[in-house]
Amino acid sequence: MDMQGILDEIVERVATLCHQGSVAAYIPSLSQVSPEKFGICVAMADGTVYGAGDWRTPFSIQSLSKVFSLALVMSYDYDSIWRRVFREPSGTPFNSMVQLEADRGIPRNPFINAGALVVTDRLLTLTGDAAGSVRGLLRRESGNPEVEVDEVVAASEAGHGHRNASMAHLLASYGNLENPVDDVLANYFNQCALEMSCEDLAKASLFLARHGVSTGGTPFLSPNQSKRVNAVMLTCGTYDAAGEFAYRVGLPGKSGVGGGIVAIVPGRCSVTVWGPALGPNGNSVAGIAALDAFTARTEWSIF
Ligand code: GLU
Repeated sequence: MDMQGILDEIVERVATLCHQGSVAAYIPSLSQVSPEKFGICVAMADGTVYGAGDWRTPFSIQSLSKVFSLALVMSYDYDSIWRRVFREPSGTPFNSMVQLEADRGIPRNPFINAGALVVTDRLLTLTGDAAGSVRGLLRRESGNPEVEVDEVVAASEAGHGHRNASMAHLLASYGNLENPVDDVLANYFNQCALEMSCEDLAKASLFLARHGVSTGGTPFLSPNQSKRVNAVMLTCGTYDAAGEFAYRVGLPGKSGVGGGIVAIVPGRCSVTVWGPALGPNGNSVAGIAALDAFTARTEWSIF
């Protein structure tokens, strides 16, 4: 298969979509990113990497970090996180508070903000430095020692993070935080503000395509845990549009408001796309079109 040819063709095809949707503005520093950027990278299970467009340009990973914090907690704690967070699609926006109150402080899944705060809290207890351990994992798996927090983005989010702070306090009021609210929030904002390229992210998520085996060849997650992370990505990874994502792309995937999407073809490869303009549900418009074209061309959907 001419993978490079496929990626070049996809970049050309989605160029016209870059102005559909809009760049996230609720975190002010994210609104300065050009909607014309687009990158795609495929990392094969054997480590071969293909890329096209802006695949080596770093961007804000935002919610993509939630996959890695969950994987880390599962690697330390196996299944105990599921006593504190459900694993069902929420049917509400990623930052909704209504459901959290109705469910008495147990978030619907680890990929909405409330659930991610609980995972970060657990990681903080386990490691003493949740954002630092996510960064360490990402550096190790991507092979890029320069993966770093963008302090401007972290400060911008902290300065406008009233909703996340409210959620963290609500979780604490239900006894579902182990650490002080401010510490959990600081770690959460820092992990979201990590900057990585499509290349870094495709390499870093490869363990999910390799049944838990890390870049260095040692098991990071068990095959069963890797299956579970992929399953939660499929059902809950793309905001309130996971059904549409499964329909169009047919892969486990996680999106972020920075415009990145990580998708996994178990046993074969990981794919990362980046297009900053988001559709109504918060997913990259060009990114979804690119992944749709990718699975159509390769016939590598899981279905
Ligand atoms: N840091 C963002 C927030 O908490 C992440 C949102 C996202 O990418 O889904 O609002």
